[in-house]
Amino acid sequence: MDEPRDTCDHCGSARLVWRKCKQICLDCGRINRSCADLRDDDAPPSCAVA
Ligand SMILES: [Zn+2]
Repeated sequence: MDEPRDTCDHCGSARLVWRKCKQICLDCGRINRSCADLRDDDAPPSCAVA
């Protein structure tokens, strides 16, 4: 199980969620990345771009 875990670039929290194609930290509320930053195989299922 070496699946990489995303952490917040700003506060280091692992509590990241995807909202409207943006990955937002639940702790500091900042945006870490967006779908535009990801390659197809990294995009979250909830944010599939057809
Ligand atoms: Zn954070």
